[in-house]
Amino acid sequence: MQRRVCYFIERNGDYFMHVVAYLPKEKVHNGRAIGIDLGIKNQIAFSNGIKVQYAISMSERIKRLYKAFSRSQYGKEKKVRSKRGTKLLQKIKSEFQHQNNQKKDINNKLAHYVTTNYEYVAYQNDNIHSWSWFYGRKIYQTSIGGFRNCLKASTPLEVGRFIRTTGVCMNCGTVQHLNLSDRMVVCPSCHSIFDRDVGAAYKQEGLCLGNLGETLAEDYASSMLEYIKRM
Ligand SMILES: [Zn+2]
Repeated sequence: MQRRVCYFIERNGDYFMHVVAYLPKEKVHNGRAIGIDLGIKNQIAFSNGIKVQYAISMSERIKRLYKAFSRSQYGKEKKVRSKRGTKLLQKIKSEFQHQNNQKKDINNKLAHYVTTNYEYVAYQNDNIHSWSWFYGRKIYQTSIGGFRNCLKASTPLEVGRFIRTTGVCMNCGTVQHLNLSDRMVVCPSCHSIFDRDVGAAYKQEGLCLGNLGETLAEDYASSMLEYIKRM
């Protein structure tokens, strides 16, 4: 298994060199496992209790540019796009490009941490494309699909799409039905309280390790938290 690494060497905003390297993939053998739940509200919830939200909403700058663009779209002849309109459109495009790069950067950094610190990465094979039917633009803002693709390069353990992972108690395993609005869950039988998404990630981790015959490795979230803070 080889790891494909691309480098873009940049100067004055233009790519002038593109290097691709195929390196042997070093695998982590520490028995550590982590479950990851990808969602809309908390884009990424880890089974160690960390949740990451990073929707980059449309910036004020883009909104302003759009307004100016819609006013200046056409010149006096109403047929040709005005010079100013063309310029504004270019600015809007580069602003979006900038935001996309920010998202990609976050995805890569998180995926890097996960794949270099955990031998097993468990996540559910949700159909992210179908989510955009319900949530539309929000999905576009988060690009969690991109994050999942980053993980696929490591040792992924996929949980089937239709296996129940939400509403399962982290302590005793009691299953209960949750509404979409229930963020915190109180277990009806053991009364422990846990976060909905963290619980789902925890269940996914447990399911995958159960299949492997491995047990959950003790995991402290503090080092990951340190990493995220430094990102
Ligand atoms: Zn319980």
